[in-house]
Amino acid sequence: MQKHKIISEKKTTFLGYILLFFMSIFIITVGNIIFNDIEKELLEKIEYPSYCVSDIVDSDIKKIENLNNKNCEFTKLDRDFNLEKLYYKVILSVKNIIILNKNIKTYSKKINKLENKINNLLVKYNISIKEEIFKLDSKNFDYKKLKSDFKFYEDKRLNLESNLKQFENNRDNLILKIDNNLKLLKNNYKNAKKFYKEEIYIYNFKLGLLELIFILPIFLIILKLYFKLKAKDSKNTIIFTFILSGISFLLLEVLFKIISNILPANIIEFLIKLASEFVIFRYLIYYFLLALIITIFVGIVYYIQKSIFSKNAVAYRRLKESLCPDCGFKINHNDKFCANCGYEVKIECTKCNNKTLKDMSFCSNCKEKIEISHLDREKN
Ligand SMILES: [Zn+2]
Ligand SMILES: [Zn+2]
Repeated sequence: MQKHKIISEKKTTFLGYILLFFMSIFIITVGNIIFNDIEKELLEKIEYPSYCVSDIVDSDIKKIENLNNKNCEFTKLDRDFNLEKLYYKVILSVKNIIILNKNIKTYSKKINKLENKINNLLVKYNISIKEEIFKLDSKNFDYKKLKSDFKFYEDKRLNLESNLKQFENNRDNLILKIDNNLKLLKNNYKNAKKFYKEEIYIYNFKLGLLELIFILPIFLIILKLYFKLKAKDSKNTIIFTFILSGISFLLLEVLFKIISNILPANIIEFLIKLASEFVIFRYLIYYFLLALIITIFVGIVYYIQKSIFSKNAVAYRRLKESLCPDCGFKINHNDKFCANCGYEVKIECTKCNNKTLKDMSFCSNCKEKIEISHLDREKN
C-alpha cells in the first residue's frame, strides 16, 4: 500500500470548479453577444413583407371583416415590390368593404330570423285553414290575423333583402373598382415573399459562415492547447477543459444554425407550427436538444479521457520522465520496484535474462518483445 496519497494534479477544489463553471458560462454569453453583433453590424437584415398587406391579400375579400394590423409600417422590401403604394390605393375601399361586409352579415342574420318567423306563421296558417275546411270547433288560430302578420313580416323581409342586395351591389362595385390593384398587390406580395425566402436563406447562410469563421479558429487553438496540456498531464488541463466546453457549445450553436438553415423549410415550418400549438412539444424539443448536447459532450470527453488516460498511455508518459508507471513517484534508472507503491517497474527478459522495463514494448538489451505489461494488468 502507498504510504503517501498522491493528489492528482488534474483536479481542482470545489471553489475552483464553481469559478471554472461560471467562466464557461461567461464564455458562452460573450460568444452570443459577439454573434448578435455580427448579425447587426456585418449584415443588413432583410425584413419580411408587411403584415398589413397579408391582412388583405390572405383573406377572402368577399368575407373580410377586420384588419389585424392597425399601424402599418413599410420597409424597403415593401417599397421595392410596390406594396406600399398599392396598399394605399386599395385600403380605403377595403375599409368600406369591411363595413359593408359587416352590414351584410347582420342583415343576413336578421333575414334569417324573419324567415323563421314567417315559416312558423305559415305552419300556423295552414293549421287554421284546415280547421276551417273541416269545420272543426276549436279555432286555435285566427287566420285573418295570421295573414296580416304574414304580410307584415314578408314586407319587412323584402325590405331587408333589398337593403342587403344594395350592400352587396355596393361591395361588389368596390371590389370591381380595386380588382386590378388587388390582383397586382397579391401578385407582388407573393413575389416579395418568394424574394424574402431566398434572401433570408442566403443571409442565414452568410451569417452562419461568418460565425463559423469567428469561432472555428478559436476552437481549434483551444483544442490543440488542451491536448498539449492533457498529454503533459498538466495541472492547467482542467482550466482548458472548461474553456473548451464553452467554446464547443458556441461551435455547436453555430453548426446547429447552419444545419437548420439547410434543412428543407417545410420541416422547420412544421416543427415551429407544432411547437407553437403544443407547449409540451416545445419543451420536449428543449429537453431533446439538451440531452443531445450533453450526450455529445459526454461522448467527446469520454473518448478523450479513454485514449489519453489509458494505463498504456499514462505508463508511457511517466516512464519517459522517470516516474513510476503506477503512481507517478520519481524512480531511478536502476530501480526494480517503485519505492512508493511497490510496483514492479522492471522484469527479467525471457530471452536475454537482463532487467528491462515491464511497460515498454521491447527489451532494452536484446529488442525481444515484452509480453508481460500493463495490458495484462488491466485485464485483471
Ligand atoms: Zn509507484
Ligand atoms: Zn532482452
